[in-house]
Amino acid sequence: MRQKEGPEKLIRSHLIDMKPYAYVAPLEAATDESGLSVDRIIKLDGNENPYGCSPKVKKALAEYPYYHIYPDSEQRELRQALQSYVGAPAESIIAGSGSDELIDFVMRLFIDPGDRVINCVPTFGMYQFSTDAWGGKTVTIPRDASFGIDIAEVKKAAGQRAKVIFIASPNNPSGNVTPKEDILQLLDLPMVVVLDEAYYEFSQKTLVPLVREHDNLIVLRTFSKWAGLAGLRVGYGVFPDKIAAHLLRIKPPYNVNAAAQVAALESLKDLGYLQSTVKSIVAERQRLFEKLAGFRKLKPRPSEANFILCSVIDHDAQSIYEDLKRQGILIRYFNTPLLKNYIRISVGKPEHTDTLVAALNDILLK
Ligand code: PMP
Repeated sequence: MRQKEGPEKLIRSHLIDMKPYAYVAPLEAATDESGLSVDRIIKLDGNENPYGCSPKVKKALAEYPYYHIYPDSEQRELRQALQSYVGAPAESIIAGSGSDELIDFVMRLFIDPGDRVINCVPTFGMYQFSTDAWGGKTVTIPRDASFGIDIAEVKKAAGQRAKVIFIASPNNPSGNVTPKEDILQLLDLPMVVVLDEAYYEFSQKTLVPLVREHDNLIVLRTFSKWAGLAGLRVGYGVFPDKIAAHLLRIKPPYNVNAAAQVAALESLKDLGYLQSTVKSIVAERQRLFEKLAGFRKLKPRPSEANFILCSVIDHDAQSIYEDLKRQGILIRYFNTPLLKNYIRISVGKPEHTDTLVAALNDILLK
């Protein structure tokens, strides 16, 4: 490690060598590499919505007259509008700049340096990242062979004073939902259970109604995936009353910007359109699954989200990723002890599936 000097020496010790978040590369990186224009890139690496946002969102954003005024720090209109969509009282809902920010707020509220946070891996990278950023200690518990939660190990860790557990359901990158019975067992433990339902609209499975009955359950959601607002950064959480009150107190003012609040509100007024794009994605997920299963070298896993994880057999996952990237098709690959030789493909439009499958035909049958 390099000796730090000057103000660098004053940086909090747990942050000085913290691992950065491995974010998805911007579109420009792909155009540079493939030489293709942005509209020719097929982006299947970020679990974004290929149909974009509602056309009503674009119109409302163009016409909104108050960008020079701070947005409502308490997000009253948005929280009220979310009440009927979510099926929970407005007072229990708080929005964030993406659900990423709400993950960070949970840490801000509960985690002192050294406090334990349970992370059931492989899963979404922000739980580890935010734990590190707040100086917490991650207790890493591998999922089982079907990517289910190892309840016995979690119980042990909870007994050793873990404060918070994060469960993505559907899980990213495996796509499976954690059964309600498992979550109920976790809720009996003396810790906060954060259930991340970022992909709820694609699974249609939610445990939001349980928040009323359990003062240790938090459910997180986002507009990034189903509503096509990833670039505007807006998510929300459903919190037990007491936790919601504390969160409102400690969150920075105006954390959800005016454009994001307008876009989220307008999305909630155009549910018919958005739900029809979700329906198309769910139908395409099935078609993509069948196409991938047709390759001897790929073993796709059933998914309840808007992406499919595939184990790669007799071929190198990274080389598939690179070969596709050269053709302007972006996916993710993993080669870690828990995800040895896997690719993850976000569900796109039917024409994206067709182009991808033609490219995979060349790559895998070579
Ligand atoms: N949770 C999970 C499980 C995710 O996969 C993602 C996005 N990749 C997020 C949360 C973050 O969503 P947002 O854009 O709302 O920050």
